[in-house]
Amino acid sequence: MNFKDFGFDERLLEGIDATGYETATAVQEQVIPYILAGKDIIASAQTGTGKTAAFLLPIIHKIISSSNGHDDHINALIIVPTRELAVQIAQNLEGLSYFTSISSIAVYGGGDGASFSQEKNALSRGADIVICTPGRMIGHLAMGYVKLKHLQYLVLDEADRMLDMGFNDDIMKIISFLPPKRQNLLFSATMPGKIRELARRILHNPEEVNISISKPPEKIVQQAYVVFDAQKSALVKHLLRSKDFKSVLIFCSKKNNVKDLSRDLKRSGFSIEEIHSDLEQAMREQVLAAFINHRVRILVATDILSRGIDIDNIDLVINYDVPNDGEDYVHRIGRTARAETDGTAYTLINEKEQNKFAAIEELLGKPVTKTPVPEQFGETPAYQPRSGRSSNKRFPQKSRRN
Ligand code: AMP
Repeated sequence: MNFKDFGFDERLLEGIDATGYETATAVQEQVIPYILAGKDIIASAQTGTGKTAAFLLPIIHKIISSSNGHDDHINALIIVPTRELAVQIAQNLEGLSYFTSISSIAVYGGGDGASFSQEKNALSRGADIVICTPGRMIGHLAMGYVKLKHLQYLVLDEADRMLDMGFNDDIMKIISFLPPKRQNLLFSATMPGKIRELARRILHNPEEVNISISKPPEKIVQQAYVVFDAQKSALVKHLLRSKDFKSVLIFCSKKNNVKDLSRDLKRSGFSIEEIHSDLEQAMREQVLAAFINHRVRILVATDILSRGIDIDNIDLVINYDVPNDGEDYVHRIGRTARAETDGTAYTLINEKEQNKFAAIEELLGKPVTKTPVPEQFGETPAYQPRSGRSSNKRFPQKSRRN
């Protein structure tokens, strides 16, 4: 479907063209007509489906074609779980609205006092579209200068992620500042019961759209290594040296693991960078930009980077820790093999993580190949999860403990 068919304003069509979008994606085709018609939406759609433009485009169109817009108030509020996602949406918005008079600001904190007062100024003046992380927005709301009286659109993006991060109360608090009559759009990669409950409290008669991709693309080569925890770091080094990978993303579940592994890799001569929540916001943005531009080849990160971040041409993802659930696994390995490129995803499983990994295999509907660890690593544990599928049928002899 062509974007002209939505009846978008010419200035917006120019921005879409300049961004390089030719036809609408599935989620855009389904969601945009509902938003234009003023409906509330609950959409299950993951990053990579084009969900951001699915809500940005109709909101921009409605704001620029509305005669009762309020220049000095906030028209749309987009709440997102992470600063990285806020920045990415702001950049997307900037491109799409380039030929319009839309004003916007991303409010995500983590910076210094100067950025807080910059945000304060913008929020006091009003901006058409505000993209925010919950905690930072609450900080501003508490001071009383945020102009939300004429707000028309509320977007909750990656709602499941926000609830997982404990933002439920913050979201409800922000909503208590909004006028009751408004259009609500909720996007979530998964639809667990708690999201339904949130939707029931916030949305009015929503239209439901389902574009979930809960399986990773077939072209990603997935392999797992069953090891003792103490063997993980050495195995990562071995894997990094095994092939000339151009761009590698290593995920750890905890920031301390990111720090420890990064230190160890640097000590062994690898040129790497790291991203986790202890890093200053400016530094995080700098590192991410260097990785996206391929100036940094290997990046070690927490799950901060598993969702919502659009980086092309990563050819290897390593799960140093098994992610907490299947959706996170799909998100993490989905960072590779985007667009036309192929990708490889290795997961390192220690004894404690075996049950968790078995549950992930359950969600995938098939076992992930367990690749034998090279002999020089010595003894390794057997894959014997208590529940879920056991997928070690090809390499049961790997255990050399008895
Ligand atoms: P998202 O799911 O919003 O994170 O979008 C994933 C990627 O698809 C981003 O790089 C978008 O810029 C891009 N994208 C969104 N809509 C389109 C479209 N209609 N045509 C081509 N690319 C798109």
